[in-house]
Amino acid sequence: MELDSLYQEVILEHYKRPQNKGLLPNQTVQVHHVNTSCGDEITLNLKMINGTIAEISWDGVGCSISQASTSVVSELLKGKDSAAALAIIDTFQAMLQSKGSDLGDESVLEDGVAFAGVAKFPARVKCALLGWMATKDAISQSLALTSNVKKEQR
Ligand code: ZN
Repeated sequence: MELDSLYQEVILEHYKRPQNKGLLPNQTVQVHHVNTSCGDEITLNLKMINGTIAEISWDGVGCSISQASTSVVSELLKGKDSAAALAIIDTFQAMLQSKGSDLGDESVLEDGVAFAGVAKFPARVKCALLGWMATKDAISQSLALTSNVKKEQR
């Protein structure tokens, strides 16, 4: 597969020096997602404080795209509230599912735009989305926890 060489560099850099890799304790939610078509696996710890993402830490094995992409999302969404984080994840997902027509907005996705070219390779789209879908799942679960706590307090 051929990606723009600058983008390739960004992906390789995240693969070689992944951000937030290594699970941190005291998470709000832990999720484990697997991409069976490639053999990628991610365990992700999400820590929410007052509706804001305080930490995303993760561990995993798999191809460079899956690992680099998880590194990008773990850094990008730190400090965002859950609604903003979910909107950014949707933007990334739309880019990946555009078959290459949506090149992504760098002001929103930052290093995430490096994966725009992956959209042209359907077999690899799941690799790029793995960490992002894991994060989305973790945010949804943390929101469900919060609403359950509120119900119990009534
Ligand atoms: Zn993969």
